[in-house]
Amino acid sequence: MIETTTYLYNTLSKQVEEFIPNEAGKVAMYTCGPTVYHFAHIGNLRSYIMEDVLEKYLRFVGYDVKRVMNITDVGHLTSDGDTGEDKMLKGAKREHKSVMDIAKFYTDAFMDDCRKLCIKKPDVVEPATNCIPEFIHMIEVLLEKGYAYVAGENVYFDTSKLENYYVLSAQNEEDLQVGVREDVDEDKNKKNKTDFVLWFTKSKFDNQELKWDSPWGVGYPGWHIECSCISMKHLGEYMDIHCGGVDNIFPHHTNEIAQSEAYTGHKWCNYWFHVNHLNTKSGKMSKSAGEFLTVSLLEEKGYNPMVYRLFCLLSHYRKPLEFSYEALDNVATTYNKLIKRIQNLSETGDVDEKSIAEYEKKFAGALANDINTSSAITVLYDMLKADISDASKRQLTARFDEVLSLQLTKAWEAGEVDTDLSAYVEKMIEERKQAKKEKNFARADEIRDELKEKGIVLKDTREGTLWSVE
Ligand code: AMP
Ligand code: ZN
Repeated sequence: MIETTTYLYNTLSKQVEEFIPNEAGKVAMYTCGPTVYHFAHIGNLRSYIMEDVLEKYLRFVGYDVKRVMNITDVGHLTSDGDTGEDKMLKGAKREHKSVMDIAKFYTDAFMDDCRKLCIKKPDVVEPATNCIPEFIHMIEVLLEKGYAYVAGENVYFDTSKLENYYVLSAQNEEDLQVGVREDVDEDKNKKNKTDFVLWFTKSKFDNQELKWDSPWGVGYPGWHIECSCISMKHLGEYMDIHCGGVDNIFPHHTNEIAQSEAYTGHKWCNYWFHVNHLNTKSGKMSKSAGEFLTVSLLEEKGYNPMVYRLFCLLSHYRKPLEFSYEALDNVATTYNKLIKRIQNLSETGDVDEKSIAEYEKKFAGALANDINTSSAITVLYDMLKADISDASKRQLTARFDEVLSLQLTKAWEAGEVDTDLSAYVEKMIEERKQAKKEKNFARADEIRDELKEKGIVLKDTREGTLWSVE
């Protein structure tokens, strides 16, 4: 356990707060998973990368984390409200396949993208279609408690029954309503504008493929109920951190809180972690308009997915981030230089435990400040420049990469160390040492300059001469 106090911005309180989990040493964490009707765009993946860093940081400092994620394979309509078409059905029509085929294909594609971006698979990944009995049970309880009603053969959540429905968002009702609607279809069954569907039976989509029997007739669940049920199924009634992109704040997370707290009768989740959007120059990233930016597309264009991960880590998760190929090119150069530098760390010198502990603390400290990933990367650079042995640097690089996951140590593991360069530099260092011994300082300086021209910097320390690639 690394002694650190973690501070996180909490959307619930709208301020940075000290993070204190319900149970000491343990973290129950939930992430809204992808809607598997199409490939994830790199904007969606920004959210998963930053959530991955949060999880890995918590593990790094010693928490026992259990992370759960759903897969939305039913119920998410093209508008985040209850209007529009079912996204899964839209995907199936587009590709002339069944909904389940689409779900399988795009779940696998999402997992592939995560693997490429070194995003750890959550401990539990549960598709919504696995949990129909749990959804039905929760809806039955909500009806019994008077928080839900049946109208026009659908089951709705009654938001007027709550004292503070807008607990998560500061915006006013009118703004939010406009924001979530793709069309202005008013659902006449709703008692209040903000009520939402828990279970559809009177589907307006005649060809809805996935339907299940329920006490209210054959139908399918609304989108929000799945996250409440799936998280409680695996994490119980109390949760520490719930994650998602900022677009999930309203209505999705607002509705999740409404139904979960109505169901349990107590506060459900203490910290809400929201990742801001990745945008293009022309605005919001989209799967339908403009270039559909996927990890595979970046690979086709010659980018290592790690470059995109670093691009995300160089900015703070709460700030909007603008994507451009120029910016990505700059990060590619940065990444390649960094890898080269690490690749050429030799295994020489003793591992200095004091320095290891000191730098681990600095690194954790940067992330403890509301997951400040760019500061954590600065600590990595400072460490690489420090007067400590290469062996210590190697160990610290590997430790930091448990959180950064930038494949920083891949070169050593694959035995790809540039042995020619290492051998050459070591030979020159030996020659310089000899020159100094013979008081031939002009030759010693000449060697230093010669190496400098090649981008190799020498540093004389008590442990001998260390070198690094600029
Ligand atoms: P979806 O597959 O639409 O359910 O979205 C998956 C995740 O990506 C959710 O957490 C969204 O909030 C998030 N998301 C959607 N668009 C973006 C974006 N442009 N930038 C960052 N995250 C996003
Ligand atoms: Zn969700």
